[in-house]
Amino acid sequence: EDVANKVAAGEVVERPYNVIKELMENSADAGADRLSVVVENGGVGLVSVTDNGKGIIPDDLPLAVERFATSKISTADDVYRVSTFGFRGEALAAISSVSDFTIRSFRKGYIGAELRIRYGEKSDILPAPMQEGTRVEAKALFANVPARLKFFKNYQTEEKEIARFVRQFSVINPHIAVELDINGKRVYSADKTEDMCKRAKKVFQETDVVTGENEFEDMSVKAAVTLPSVHKFRKDMIIIGINGRVVKDASLTQAVVTAYHRLIPEGKFPAAAISLQIDPEKVDVNVHPTKSVVKLLDSREIFSFVHNSVKMILEDAGR
Ligand code: ADP
Ligand code: MG
Repeated sequence: EDVANKVAAGEVVERPYNVIKELMENSADAGADRLSVVVENGGVGLVSVTDNGKGIIPDDLPLAVERFATSKISTADDVYRVSTFGFRGEALAAISSVSDFTIRSFRKGYIGAELRIRYGEKSDILPAPMQEGTRVEAKALFANVPARLKFFKNYQTEEKEIARFVRQFSVINPHIAVELDINGKRVYSADKTEDMCKRAKKVFQETDVVTGENEFEDMSVKAAVTLPSVHKFRKDMIIIGINGRVVKDASLTQAVVTAYHRLIPEGKFPAAAISLQIDPEKVDVNVHPTKSVVKLLDSREIFSFVHNSVKMILEDAGR
């Protein structure tokens, strides 16, 4: 089983960036509205995510880190889980098999407890003081997988990727206050008074950002888009969120780009954030282990919806 976890780990957590993504998404699933991310040495040294979510009861800690055991968790809210992307139960098992891993959690009405797992070796569960919520720490990532560790000599590259993801997550989830510290420096923060528009302005480093909302059948979208006169044409600044998850989707990115047709030169890209809510049944997240690429059923309908919504917002802004 340890081998299976290690193999799976290679797919789910290719890089420190994937660890951050999985942990932040777990925090969002747990209903957290505040989370704090700490990174050292490109995340290979340390990755830690602390949230104020509903927490895990001590008896469930071993299940939380077991592969595919998640559905056994007695307190899991099945209805909620289906509406999130977190139903595969692989991330914590994978991360704890390739790091010196500690999960500490407190659920109201229970005692705070901690479970340490060093490269797959579980210790006993110990009582541990903790405010309501969960903290996961992964130290010395990939130290037991030297072949993988080799890839992370350039910490700065990984830190940039992490910072970019945290910013994107923050724009797509404006109800969550977020802090990011890298090597002891506060790199990014957004509090709950900062809505999607304010966060988009900050992340895009643009002042001319307009927001709008749209609905069609069971889909809804909130978008923050830059106006063409000001943007700096960065392709990596098209942020797509589906049900609160940051995803990469070439087709939806294209839906945004074509909505700017005639407003910006061909081959240039606007900065825009698109936060879609769609029926979870229409999203297949099991296309890629890291879940950053999704497959959409009704993809044509969703494409048109995004395209038309962005166009509408631009037109409303007089463009
Ligand atoms: P998945 O998210 O696919 O269920 P994970 O391995 O990421 O699998 O997490 C396993 C389980 O551990 C989750 O389903 C959840 O019950 C619990 N869990 C993980 N992180 C947190 C957290 N931050 N707060 C509360 N529960 C958590
Ligand atoms: Mg998860």
